[in-house]
Amino acid sequence: STQAVADIGLIGLAVMGQNLILNMNDKGYTVCAYNRTTSKVDDFLNNEAKGTNVVGAHSVEEFVAKLKRPRKMIILVKAGAAVDAFIEQLVPHLEKGDIIIDGGNSHYPDSIRRTKELEAKGLLFVGSGVSGGEEGARHGPSIMPGGSEAAWPAIKEIFQKTAAQSDGEPCCDWVGGTGAGHYVKMVHNGIEYGDMQLICEAYDILKQGLGLKETEIGDIFAEWNNGVLDSFLIDITKDILKFNDEQGVPLVTKILDSAGQKGTGKWTAINALDLGQPLTLIGEAVFARCLSSLKGERTRASQILSGPQIKPFEGDKKQFIADLEQALYASKIVSYAQGFMLMREAAKEYDWKLNNPSIALMWRGGCIIRSVFLKDITAAFRKNPELENLLFDDFFNKAIHNAQEGWRRVVAQAILWGIPTPAFSSALAFFDGYRRETVPANLLQAQRDFFGAHGYQLLPQYATDKQPAGTWHHTNWTGR
Ligand code: NAP
Repeated sequence: STQAVADIGLIGLAVMGQNLILNMNDKGYTVCAYNRTTSKVDDFLNNEAKGTNVVGAHSVEEFVAKLKRPRKMIILVKAGAAVDAFIEQLVPHLEKGDIIIDGGNSHYPDSIRRTKELEAKGLLFVGSGVSGGEEGARHGPSIMPGGSEAAWPAIKEIFQKTAAQSDGEPCCDWVGGTGAGHYVKMVHNGIEYGDMQLICEAYDILKQGLGLKETEIGDIFAEWNNGVLDSFLIDITKDILKFNDEQGVPLVTKILDSAGQKGTGKWTAINALDLGQPLTLIGEAVFARCLSSLKGERTRASQILSGPQIKPFEGDKKQFIADLEQALYASKIVSYAQGFMLMREAAKEYDWKLNNPSIALMWRGGCIIRSVFLKDITAAFRKNPELENLLFDDFFNKAIHNAQEGWRRVVAQAILWGIPTPAFSSALAFFDGYRRETVPANLLQAQRDFFGAHGYQLLPQYATDKQPAGTWHHTNWTGR
């Protein structure tokens, strides 16, 4: 029958779609499933969805007809043209107030455009980041919806029940207008790149610097997972390091050291450059993946370019490992501080009202960067939603000061060893630059004025009646 029986529809029966449907079904919602290749609808209904309340559709018309009003439909297909293609097919069958939700990894400018286009047609659009992979989709992802705010009351309950729960609170809340949901998901992915790079640098230092074996490093990560670094990524890293193949060899040591990327980290870094924000750690994390992918060139370079010989470590290993934990923690604080700086600027640029405490809360559970740490970030923004910088919060201020000494020792030692730590080092360089009232940009401005007559302003204390504060000056530096 084509009665409107479904609470919500979902298009796209790949990994994410199937799991999200089953999750929504578990929460008591009737879901209508549809897919471009319609044979997958029957496969799904006869297998994974057998015995559930899920219904299927074999055409867009049938799909739309099966949805209760206002119609709510999630598109969860390959990001890009496929999303626009489905929107185009759906629109002629919809009526005012119906809600199209894109739950894929779309780039936020597309979501800004789609929100505007659909609102112009009297429809509502929600671009929603969904994080947590297959497991998250099935049992509770982090969901970051943004777009047409009028859609939120209609989808709030389904979304919040379907999302991960953290300390009894759903990891889903309204993010902001137009492309805000996908924007925040993009920054989430950028932060994920940073977190992963930091862990890889710690692994490299423990292996190359201290000469530890994978299983010993796994033990260290297991211990860290009981402290301030307690997180999904530290937890899986421990499991990865402890995983041996049939020959009893840690599988990780056999994996080609050339990193892939799908582009969300790169988008974040490009956006930071566009908005003039110092998102240095994520930038370095993207570049570290680029360097890793030059495997052939690095192999040739390794035969020509040499560095220090790493001698057996003679210091206090236990202390050094404790320092390393602090270095990772401090760098992570910097990375999140930078991420929130970027989002604040984006909110200005794209005219969104971003809800910082909610963003931190949404990332606390269900997603790849979920951690105990995000609980402290949520608390910091709840205490002061207008917090200018995470480093200004008492808790994080204390934490980074406590971590500082160990962090410096680790970076210094890594440099002496010749072990690259772009994320640890750039985080420290940011901290040292950010905490200084003066930086050497006075000289930079002089250089620009010297060769390009770009002008400079004087420090206010040197203002005179002839040269008042804020005015621009040019000097003939050569006297010629
Ligand atoms: P996917 O492999 O990205 O996409 C497969 C789905 O897209 C299938 O339903 C496919 O239909 C449909 N599709 C592809 N091209 C199409 C086109 N030109 N026209 C119509 N339909 C088309 O699936 P996924 O891994 O489940 O991911 C879905 C979305 O979630 C993506 O945006 C992805 O980036 C995002 N995401 C994925 C993960 C993850 O862990 N996999 C995590 C978070 C977010 P057919 O069956 O007909 O080919």
